[in-house]
Amino acid sequence: MANVPWIIENGGDKYAEMGYNRSRGTKVLSLNSLFERPGLYEVEFGIPLREVVYEIGGGLKGGRRLKGVIVGGPLSPVIRPEELDVRLGVEELRAIGASLGHGNVIAFSDDTPIVDLLHEIVHFAAFESCGKCFPCRLGTSELDRLFEEASRRGYLTKAEAEEALRTAETMMAASLCSHGVGTGEAVAVTLKKYWDEVVR
Ligand code: SF4
Repeated sequence: MANVPWIIENGGDKYAEMGYNRSRGTKVLSLNSLFERPGLYEVEFGIPLREVVYEIGGGLKGGRRLKGVIVGGPLSPVIRPEELDVRLGVEELRAIGASLGHGNVIAFSDDTPIVDLLHEIVHFAAFESCGKCFPCRLGTSELDRLFEEASRRGYLTKAEAEEALRTAETMMAASLCSHGVGTGEAVAVTLKKYWDEVVR
């Protein structure tokens, strides 16, 4: 909606001159409170995520080190620091298993245990599941149970991690809507990216 007045004033063609690849125009991003300069920023599609994190956001408060960033909403997979050269765009983010969503940029620092982060995600997903289809209804509650235990212990066993992956992949393949699919993706992609930390 923020784009509409500008488009009416300047025309759609002018707006479409901005952007990158198939993502045209601009996007409003919301940087979370962990950034040195949190807040709302309108950026042109195609900007590297590294520039968003370190130049616009100023990095993390107090010089803390970045462990990862979630772009989109809570059901978007985590992007690792070494992936920050990705450009902001729908296809570009999909190519690294992430998503654009509604443009939240949630950074977290290197003292955040990924197992706790995953527990928060699946706990939220289980609470929000409407229960209409069983892959999501049973999958989110099973993942919530697995990660609650793992969060208390500090890690997942290999058998638990494999079970979590199977459950997440079933949710991705068979859930009726993006809630179940997104939860499955967030768990599967994030777990694979941080396997060495999460699994013992
Ligand atoms: S995937 Fe969608 S339809 Fe299925 S239980 Fe979850 S929220 Fe409901």
